[in-house]
Amino acid sequence: MLETEEVKVLVDQGFSGAQLQKRLGLLGINPEEIDCALITHHHGDHGGGATIAQKKWQMQMLANERTALELGLDPMLTSYFGSLDLIRIGEELTILPVPVPHSGSENVAFVASYRGERAAIITDLGSWTDELVRHVHGCEHISIEANYDAKRLDSGPYPYSLKERIRGRGGHLSNNQTGEFLAEVCTSATRNIVLTHLSEKNNSPHLAESTVLYYIGDLFEGDIHISLQDGPEKTHYIGKTDNSPPHTSIEDKAKIE
Ligand SMILES: [Zn+2]
Ligand SMILES: [Zn+2]
Repeated sequence: MLETEEVKVLVDQGFSGAQLQKRLGLLGINPEEIDCALITHHHGDHGGGATIAQKKWQMQMLANERTALELGLDPMLTSYFGSLDLIRIGEELTILPVPVPHSGSENVAFVASYRGERAAIITDLGSWTDELVRHVHGCEHISIEANYDAKRLDSGPYPYSLKERIRGRGGHLSNNQTGEFLAEVCTSATRNIVLTHLSEKNNSPHLAESTVLYYIGDLFEGDIHISLQDGPEKTHYIGKTDNSPPHTSIEDKAKIE
């Protein structure tokens, strides 16, 4: 979730109504207080609860046309964006949707800007593009999936065809790939990294963190957090100057498919 003094923006809504209410409740937020939800793509763990939130709380959704169509979003409660359209929410928060390769969907990463700092939220991609690197380079905060450990996936229980799909260009990022990507985009400005969307069967927090650190240990001096499925947890504040109160918090709430 992205929260500023002015707005509360949910990123993805894969929960049932009761689950969403419960998890937001842990943050002291009512679903009615959400200004809008940005949906990355239509897969159930990201958009499966979007229509529920529209019906229950008249929640405004922002999605691209393909995602909105696949999810059957209510057009009266949906705004559509195109790739790289700059979306403004409230006075100061802007969001840039950047397309990422993920089979059978039109998935996007979001790069949020607020008071001169940027936060990237990137999930469900089998590979990345130069365009994504350009937009994420030097972000203060990066939330990105580290879905699987290559060895664990190889020796794990999934059928061969599913393993191939996960490994493919339109699948998910392995810990190694996430490390490689982060090595390209991290700069001295990068203060906080959250690893998300860890597979319970094919990954573990210590593997994800140690693998990623192998790639960025020399250039990154900030904090790494792992976001697990039980969430939410407060992870980071952007737009924060030394003594001022935090303005924007980001909590990852992705449920893993
Ligand atoms: Zn997906
Ligand atoms: Zn997913």
